[in-house]
Amino acid sequence: MRCSRCFMPDTRPGSVFTEGVCQACLNFDKRGSVNWVEREEQFDRILADHVGGRYDCLIPVSGGKDSHRIVYEIKRRGLRPLLCTVNDSFTHTEAGTANLRNLVQGSDHIEYTINHDLFTRGTRWAFEDSGEALRFVEYAIYTVPWMIAQMYEIPLVIFGENSAFEYGPVEDNFYSANDVINGIIAKAKREVPWWKGGGVTEEDIASIMPKPGGFQPQVLYLSFFYQWSSITNLKIARKMGFKDLTGEWDRKGTIENFEQIDSKAYMVHLWLKYPKFGFQRVSDIASRRVREGALSLKKAKALIWSYDHILDPEAMDDFCQTLGYTPKQFWGVISKAKWNVYHGKQDLARRVRDRVHETKQHVAVPSRVLEGDSKWVHT
Ligand SMILES: [Zn+2]
Repeated sequence: MRCSRCFMPDTRPGSVFTEGVCQACLNFDKRGSVNWVEREEQFDRILADHVGGRYDCLIPVSGGKDSHRIVYEIKRRGLRPLLCTVNDSFTHTEAGTANLRNLVQGSDHIEYTINHDLFTRGTRWAFEDSGEALRFVEYAIYTVPWMIAQMYEIPLVIFGENSAFEYGPVEDNFYSANDVINGIIAKAKREVPWWKGGGVTEEDIASIMPKPGGFQPQVLYLSFFYQWSSITNLKIARKMGFKDLTGEWDRKGTIENFEQIDSKAYMVHLWLKYPKFGFQRVSDIASRRVREGALSLKKAKALIWSYDHILDPEAMDDFCQTLGYTPKQFWGVISKAKWNVYHGKQDLARRVRDRVHETKQHVAVPSRVLEGDSKWVHT
């Protein structure tokens, strides 16, 4: 089933639908009844209660348009943030590198890079056994900023979007991300035996986790205090000097060139939702645009049916080269994966299988992994 208003499928984990409408659409409707002036004043009060230390707050940044928006909101108030980036080992785009450099001008910035050996072990295992390739990195994206705020005793950490509310399944908006991060820490602890299967030890996991007890920063979602919109954020980011991928990379399997543009292979992580759940980034973006009134439902459906199954060859090449897979091994994981269950939906399973097969046949990837040159071949 897909949402009658935005076309988001019900295979998204934790999806809640009410009379054919997804929770994300119902949550979007609630914006009309929120007093946004009061919300902004509430944000100002929280900031006023915490400022005055070595840094007023810590902002986790990737260099993307949402990071620009958060930095904009903090710096226009005259506050002093410490910026922090959690790096993975994939190849960075030129635009992504330029955007991060642009963003950190005028602010202190810490880059935390997960060691390549651990990144490789964790990502290969999570890809092969769960289809969620960047599971380890995504924990770090939440836990490392907390850890750094703890080390520097920075009282506030400010994230952008509360995705559980903006895209469902959570019904009530909230601004504190502390419980969410505590949940991630608890989940990582529970998963220690599973990670061991991929050679990721308890010590490896502990390396990206904050210490229990001690200094406890308050962690906020900015999206609670403003009408969160990727289009508004893009406009603000552009004014600050943000660059998209124009002239650098014409990505396949997406319908824009300014979201998640920092690293190349990140798109594979997003695409893996297709074999797993029967939808990926094109559905996410098209549905979001429909909700915001920037795209018609008819156009969204056409875009989703045309492009949602496609995997970008450059992204796949970077994924394979960074992690040491041949294209054949990559597709072998996809076709044999036990996570390709489609929740028992046989029609969906058939369609996804056919379209993944189609993608595999048509994706040309540079064969450097196999042949040591840059000749393009079909897998
Ligand atoms: Zn919807």
